[in-house]
Amino acid sequence: MKVDRKGWTMWSIEEIAKLIKDVPDFPKKGILFKDITPVLSHHEAFVSLTRQFVRAIDPSVTHLAAIESRGFILGAAIAQHMNVGFLPVRKPGKLPRETYAQSYQLEYGEDTLEIHKDDLKAGDRVAIIDDVLATGGTAAATEALIKKTGATVLESHFLMEIEFLRGRDRLEAPVKSFMKV
Ligand code: AMP
Repeated sequence: MKVDRKGWTMWSIEEIAKLIKDVPDFPKKGILFKDITPVLSHHEAFVSLTRQFVRAIDPSVTHLAAIESRGFILGAAIAQHMNVGFLPVRKPGKLPRETYAQSYQLEYGEDTLEIHKDDLKAGDRVAIIDDVLATGGTAAATEALIKKTGATVLESHFLMEIEFLRGRDRLEAPVKSFMKV
């Protein structure tokens, strides 16, 4: 931890990583769930993480698009620090107005994500935010949704990347993550 000129304690990514809890077999057997809620409940760690994202994201973005639901928590905080718009990418049937929808394959079956049609327009420059990049299906569907609006995906940012699943290979825009597990 470093204390800056204003007396603020800045946590490093390595220190933040120590707060993340591994939960075996959640939500189903065989999955090692990465629980970031201890980071969120620690004020200094959460603000430090938000600042790390702000430093890493292209400052020319106009919007952050975040994926339901932990992505919302990170994305909203980062968007406020960057003075840019925030867009929720949601599970089907949650957004009240006209949406674009994009389906994607899961290990067993299919899922869909939606975005409001009028949230973005051509010329908007978007970064995607989520906590974990696993197979990349969710983030790839989000890229496709943003393109449907005419906006451009500049990059995708994740706190953590589960490297052996090679999610980044499914994404077109550059991928940045703070930790590889
Ligand atoms: P994927 O589409 O396989 O890249 O999965 C990414 C989405 O599922 C993200 O929204 C993550 O929050 C969530 N996710 C996938 N695997 C994990 C994991 N091991 N721990 C926590 N969240 C995960």
